[in-house]
Amino acid sequence: MAESTFNLASDFAKDVFNDDVMAERLPSNIYKALRKTIDSGEDLSSEVAGAVAHAMKMWAIERGATHYTHWFQPMTGITAEKHDSFLNPVGNGKTILSFSGKELMKGESDASSFPNGGLRATFEARGYTAWDCTSPAFLREDAAGVTLCIPTAFCSYTGEALDKKTPLLRSMEAISRQAVRVLRLFGHEEVTSVSVSVGPEQEYFLIDHDKYMKREDLIFTGRTLFGAMPPKGQEMDDHYYGNIPERIESFMKELNEECWKVGIYAKTQHNEVAPAQHEMAPIYTTANIATDHNQLVMELMRKVAKRHGLECLLHEKPFAGLSGSGKHNNWSLTTNTGRNLLDPGKTPHENVQFLLILAAVIKAVDENPILLRLSASNPGNDHRLGANEAPPAVISIFLGDQLQDVVAQLLKTGSATSSKQKEKLSIGVHSLPVFSKDVTDRNRTSPFAFTGNKFEFRMVASSISIATANTILNTIVAHVFREIADELEKADDFDAAVHELIRRMLKEHQRIIFNGDGYSDDWLREAERRGLPSTRSMVDAIPSLVDPRTIEIFGEEKVLSQAELTSRAEVDYEIFTKTVNLEAKTMVDMVRTLYIPAVLHYETSVAASIRDVRAVLPSADVTVQTELLQKVTDLNAAVYRALSDLENEVRIAGDIPKGKEQARYFQDRVRPAMERLRKPVDALELIVEESFWPVPTYKELLFEV
Ligand code: ADP
Ligand code: MG
Repeated sequence: MAESTFNLASDFAKDVFNDDVMAERLPSNIYKALRKTIDSGEDLSSEVAGAVAHAMKMWAIERGATHYTHWFQPMTGITAEKHDSFLNPVGNGKTILSFSGKELMKGESDASSFPNGGLRATFEARGYTAWDCTSPAFLREDAAGVTLCIPTAFCSYTGEALDKKTPLLRSMEAISRQAVRVLRLFGHEEVTSVSVSVGPEQEYFLIDHDKYMKREDLIFTGRTLFGAMPPKGQEMDDHYYGNIPERIESFMKELNEECWKVGIYAKTQHNEVAPAQHEMAPIYTTANIATDHNQLVMELMRKVAKRHGLECLLHEKPFAGLSGSGKHNNWSLTTNTGRNLLDPGKTPHENVQFLLILAAVIKAVDENPILLRLSASNPGNDHRLGANEAPPAVISIFLGDQLQDVVAQLLKTGSATSSKQKEKLSIGVHSLPVFSKDVTDRNRTSPFAFTGNKFEFRMVASSISIATANTILNTIVAHVFREIADELEKADDFDAAVHELIRRMLKEHQRIIFNGDGYSDDWLREAERRGLPSTRSMVDAIPSLVDPRTIEIFGEEKVLSQAELTSRAEVDYEIFTKTVNLEAKTMVDMVRTLYIPAVLHYETSVAASIRDVRAVLPSADVTVQTELLQKVTDLNAAVYRALSDLENEVRIAGDIPKGKEQARYFQDRVRPAMERLRKPVDALELIVEESFWPVPTYKELLFEV
């Protein structure tokens, strides 16, 4: 590996066509016009686009770029791209390097090759990618050379969103519109827009590449479909924040540098709870850019790992019985004047505003728990939620002691007059409490926690795009802001009305607040008593997308139309079905070609041992071998029965017309059959001699990196 010469101070964002580069390279009138588009969404003229394209091309070519690509995020959640070179023949065998404003702004792509959930028939395949100038273009250097990557939205010929970016951008506009209305009520005429800030913490596993290559399940499905826990799992908790092995350190160093080059604020890194598990968190930024960056982070993690003989697993539950991986989505709202609306603040006046916004988020979450659960879902996350060290499948909100106390006082007497901490709290209509910022405790068990000046949504699946979680969060909160503004704009006595509204919202939605241990069984019973849904499977959450209320909210906020929501539900069913189908088929293949034959070999060797020992010592006690042989033979027979059972279920599932019903069958019948097959195989792994075992075990995968 080449010695790195990276200098953080001078090389940060060196591969990004960012504001500094634009200011330097664009004529000032063009730069100003572009900024207007970026900052306030004004239409972009073709003259400006042409000038930007020219500057972008010159900048990219100077750095060795040969191609450009419209980089987009179809509904699968993975990024996609189509590369074009800058070459343009001009006759006489001559060529020039060209890149027009039109090529920057609009790309054409065959939409039929991406899932569209029935939005478009294959014969009407035209799809467009449109430049998103709010997320900067960047260069990517790899084996294919240097490519100029232009973040784009992806939509159909008729304008429906076919991607994850378009609804995210729409939801950011929606929440900005409604938040500004709410802030106007408090006299903030200076605020003209509100942006969503997001900081996603990314968890991942690193394992040895050669061992990875010996596991079909990891290669095809990203997780182990078999595997027994080693004697030392994560009971000792000694990996968390532990020392980082050298090979991993050099991976992290290179990952950081790759991130920094493309302007990602990679900040913290540490070991996570499970062995071989780690985390990387960037500093938060605008939701749209944070989403693009997180897609890049995942791509870079995979790529850099390979350079170090490692494999990066982003799956939510690569190893049964160990902690899974999640993505903590830290979310807050910032005004164009730089104020964080979720900061409790210092003045009583702003605290009213804070409490109103807090109550709005509480209401939004309580009214849409299943939709939020869906926004964090993929098939893999079903294995994580409610299992080791992961949030339960029930949505609740953690407020921390101090806020909880204020809320309790408000609910009890109509006004809060004291604080649990030293600060004086006086709350009435006109004077509300001042809280200290650091008083929130930590509660790792809560799926949705207030952490000082932001909410941390911890349910999100580690391998998916954070676009959906933020789109849904933004939209449901925007909608409550709208209701608040509608009501308060009409109030005669604003102070009295706002106080009454905060109290009412908290009263109606206090059931969603839970500050205790979210991992405990008591909480699950309590949640049920409170009427909070526990959504164990993604399949159970998908219908929330097409719930009449969702259609109404998303329509009113202009984020997704009914057709777009329906198509997303269809795509989700398809993703679920395909994933489980692939897993089941991989299991069948592994059992047929690896496990059963290996166990047969072992049986033969044990049988030979019995025969041989008896031949030499006719009266020898061969209980050990005999009982072992009996047990192994019985288990292998159980494997065989479970295998036929699973094959049968997969066949039945395959005949069901695709969509909801098929996904349900995979959830209700195929998944349990997979569990039944896994059990005896894992039991065999614990008694069959290691040298006979056909694949690397958990012990080898996790502790020998
Ligand atoms: P933790 O202790 O949970 O790791 P950190 O302070 O490290 O908390 O923050 C985790 C993530 O939250 C980081 O990406 C950080 O930049 C982000 N973050 C911090 N403040 C905000 C905010 N106001 N809005 C959104 N994200 C934030
Ligand atoms: Mg965190």
